[in-house]
Amino acid sequence: MARYSPSIQNLISNLSKLPGIGGKSAQNIAFHILAMDDAEAAALTDSINAARTSTKRCSCCQNFTDRDPCPICSDPERDKTTVLVVETPRDVSTFERAREYNGLYHVLHGVFDPIKNKNISDTTIPDLINRLSQHEEITEVIIATNQTAEGNATALYLSRMLAPSGITVTRLASGLPMGSDIEYADDLTLMNALRGRVTLAGGREG
Ligand SMILES: [Zn+2]
Repeated sequence: MARYSPSIQNLISNLSKLPGIGGKSAQNIAFHILAMDDAEAAALTDSINAARTSTKRCSCCQNFTDRDPCPICSDPERDKTTVLVVETPRDVSTFERAREYNGLYHVLHGVFDPIKNKNISDTTIPDLINRLSQHEEITEVIIATNQTAEGNATALYLSRMLAPSGITVTRLASGLPMGSDIEYADDLTLMNALRGRVTLAGGREG
């Protein structure tokens, strides 16, 4: 691995930590960056820094946003009685693209996974519980975690946790393939999964 100077090697090793970037791609990108002119390279580093400093989490839904509350939470046209719970900010984009859902979101930024030692406190579940206790207008929580063991464990935990509250807890219909991520679902599959959602817990109307 000592084929390159330490600074190049450091760049390659940092790039290879990015999702979907293997060692070979990391080398290609590193040399592409080195071949850029100064203005191009500055634009790249500036955009990373700007995105990191101006992006925060919405204090309501925990999605990434430039302003707090985020445009979705502050949109008067959105249905404030329903909260759709997703794992990542990208899942919000996926649902928004499908244009089927008009309620609010809650981004967990992770999943509950006792096997991998991921606890409730590694997610925004505590924020969700707090939010639900402060907003009595919320009558339904739709759990749209991925159809994976972790996603299902999270759904089960939430449905048990919320059962006494009287809030209806639903889960997306299982039209989504097992083990697949929400973000790869096409619009029609997502629409059907949303429309055919099943009740996991209670609700005042049953
Ligand atoms: Zn928000």
